[in-house]
Amino acid sequence: MSERKRAFVMFSGGLDSLLAARLLKELGIEILLLNFRLPFSGRLGNESPDYPPSALKSRAPELGCRLIVEDLGQDYIEMLRNPKHGYGKAANPCIDCKVHMLSKARGLMNRYDVSFVATGEVLGQRPMSQRRDAMRIIERDSGLDGLLLRPLTAKNLKPTLVEENRWVDREQLLDFRGRSRKPQLELAARFKINDPPGSAGGCLLTESAYAKRLVARFEAGRPMTHAQMHILKYGRHFKTRDGAFIVVSRKEQENDALKRLAVLSFNPVVTPEGWPGPLVLLEPQPSDGSLEFAGRAAARYGKPPLKNITFRLEIPGNGPPAFFEVDRPATNEELEATII
Ligand code: SF4
Repeated sequence: MSERKRAFVMFSGGLDSLLAARLLKELGIEILLLNFRLPFSGRLGNESPDYPPSALKSRAPELGCRLIVEDLGQDYIEMLRNPKHGYGKAANPCIDCKVHMLSKARGLMNRYDVSFVATGEVLGQRPMSQRRDAMRIIERDSGLDGLLLRPLTAKNLKPTLVEENRWVDREQLLDFRGRSRKPQLELAARFKINDPPGSAGGCLLTESAYAKRLVARFEAGRPMTHAQMHILKYGRHFKTRDGAFIVVSRKEQENDALKRLAVLSFNPVVTPEGWPGPLVLLEPQPSDGSLEFAGRAAARYGKPPLKNITFRLEIPGNGPPAFFEVDRPATNEELEATII
């Protein structure tokens, strides 16, 4: 065996990546845990104490490894718009997503003096990105040919340079395969991991409500920023006949989040004037039709007066607020016809 090597383990906090890190550490590799923050994860802005989440952060000291967190940028969002290998069951472009993250990892190898990259992937575990052909595409297109090790399933795959160069003894690697979690749980027990996490989950792109909202923006050719990726997490979303998107907050915390995000994304905000009701965010700039709809939708979910249902309209960077009225709340039929 040659000198001790250092590797990135792509670390989601889920059981598979935890086991991959632990196994390689046992085999004498110095591990750096590398986590990529998705554009909708945590809170946006400087006040992001919630990322990385404690469940992820606490694992690094347990493993005795350093955790490196990198943000995915605008180029990730643009990849989402038109992924070369398509989407999975929702708006999750898992193959392109992995290629993207692993390419970024490839770009960081010199800086951290890393010799190879490892993941917790298991052949056949996920239908889209963990098929044999997809795993090969991911290795090739990320620029990690021969330098991408999947230690939990390595014996089901062709030997990599990592094994051929004897940086890691292939005989010590595993042959997990398929969807069963049993071998992972047994390995966790062998490693005395008492509270094994589940599979990482938490990717909003796999959730149909989030996916519909995102795809509707892409289909409308809307530019998407990090702030807009966060806006999709909150409220009820409608698309009006004139092509505007209306986001109606559902509760107090969503009011706060949407107000903060409206400033970051320069979106106009409508709030009830003098009566209790939800905040509404508009994309893009308001038209007469979209304002009318925004006001009626807010009135439907709030407690408006019987007449003079008044709203305040604020457009970031556009001077003092304006005011407008609507004559009645939206009907359920009107809302159902436009909800995304
Ligand atoms: S589930 Fe989400 S984070 Fe995971 S590979 Fe697919 S798109 Fe990427």
